[in-house]
Amino acid sequence: MKSAKKFYLDASKIAFDEVHRKKIDFNMSRYDLAVETGMKRYKDVEAAKNQAAAIKHEVLSHLDEYLLQFEKNISSHGAEVLWARNSEEAIAYVEKILVENDARLLVKSKSMTTEEIELNAAAAKLDCESVETDLGEFIVQTAGEKPYHIVTPAMHKSKSEIADLFHEKFDTPPDSTPEQLSDFVRRLLRKKFTQAEIGVTGANFLIADIGGISVTENEGNALMSTSFPKIHIVFAGIEKIIPKMEQLGLFYPLLAVHGTGQQMTAYNTIFTGPRQTGETDGPEKMYVILLDNGRIGIFADDEAYQSLACIRCGACLNGCPVYRTIGGYTYNTTYSGPIGSAISPFLKGFRDFYHLSYASTLCGKCAEVCPVKIPLPDILLANRRKAVEQHLSPALETTVMKGFRLIASKRKGFDFFPAVMKNSAFYPLNFWGWGPERTVPKFAKKSFSQLYRKNNK
Ligand code: SF4
Repeated sequence: MKSAKKFYLDASKIAFDEVHRKKIDFNMSRYDLAVETGMKRYKDVEAAKNQAAAIKHEVLSHLDEYLLQFEKNISSHGAEVLWARNSEEAIAYVEKILVENDARLLVKSKSMTTEEIELNAAAAKLDCESVETDLGEFIVQTAGEKPYHIVTPAMHKSKSEIADLFHEKFDTPPDSTPEQLSDFVRRLLRKKFTQAEIGVTGANFLIADIGGISVTENEGNALMSTSFPKIHIVFAGIEKIIPKMEQLGLFYPLLAVHGTGQQMTAYNTIFTGPRQTGETDGPEKMYVILLDNGRIGIFADDEAYQSLACIRCGACLNGCPVYRTIGGYTYNTTYSGPIGSAISPFLKGFRDFYHLSYASTLCGKCAEVCPVKIPLPDILLANRRKAVEQHLSPALETTVMKGFRLIASKRKGFDFFPAVMKNSAFYPLNFWGWGPERTVPKFAKKSFSQLYRKNNK
């Protein structure tokens, strides 16, 4: 099924799923409350956002220089930097490392970049078990699903659904509390951490001046994933660069408050290379795989390049009325919500994913909440324009829109047709796009303009 058609069908269905709506509303209301409280700690959050946006803008102006600086500095500490143009190249690097080390177990902390390249499936092909160690990721992996949200992967699951899932898969008591389930996962993962040959993390920030990988997390699982295994593989999109370590003082709290409402994420680690002589822990070898996978295409685009400033806080998803209605899976992409709609056409193909540019009311909430001030509605509008310029829209839609523009752009033209005709013309919307659950608004007999002119002769 074409991805646009699937999107419309899935969206129409889930938008009226009350159980789904209730779970998302519940989780989002908790998020909203936490963020409201968290924001009070800022004296001037707009100033912080402006500063973060300016830094990211500067990074994008010199992206090549910062990436090379990062490579030089982290390489000088013994890490090996590998450049991957696409998923296939990234997977080929991993396969080589797994084979060379005869790896049978890989522990992985939360990383959307590894979701993008489908690392777990690639490891499975080589008979290497890949275990998610973030609790939310562990839950969705156990359920055989993908992350529902870029920050909270299991947001769509209720406590009782998780208890049922664990009961079915691990025979835990069906009435287990969240604390009991977390304890069960903790014990299970402890063994995996000590047995794994490979530890995998993403990177929240690549720090150019010290050649550092910054990983922020709340569970300590990224630290565990990198402490026991002999090999640490980092996956990072090339846009994750910040110039200086001291700028983390700005980005850490911004990411935490926009992501979860926290003042600071619980564990913040900076990796600058593998274990050095005289050090007692850490991996013997460290690889950093820097991924393009369509990002250069975004970088080359006059409008969309701004989306590379994203720090993946998830705030635009949480603020978006469309995401809150249709949920994360409907997008059928690694990155969902407004940021996903803006970048997925570049990452996964414009022809197949430009329809996501329309998954927005253009209300502007996403841009308002974004900590790095990405003008998401502008990018979505520009993507729509590009789709039209590239003649990607269906011919019927283009013809209808041309006709509509011709009539609707002139008040006299629009008023020329009686209400009954206009209502009949719009009636098919009940079956196409609008959905039978909603009522298409009816045109009044006289337009406001006609009434105004009549009453103010
Ligand atoms: S676009 Fe902005 S709000 Fe959305 S995830 Fe990225 S940084 Fe957060």
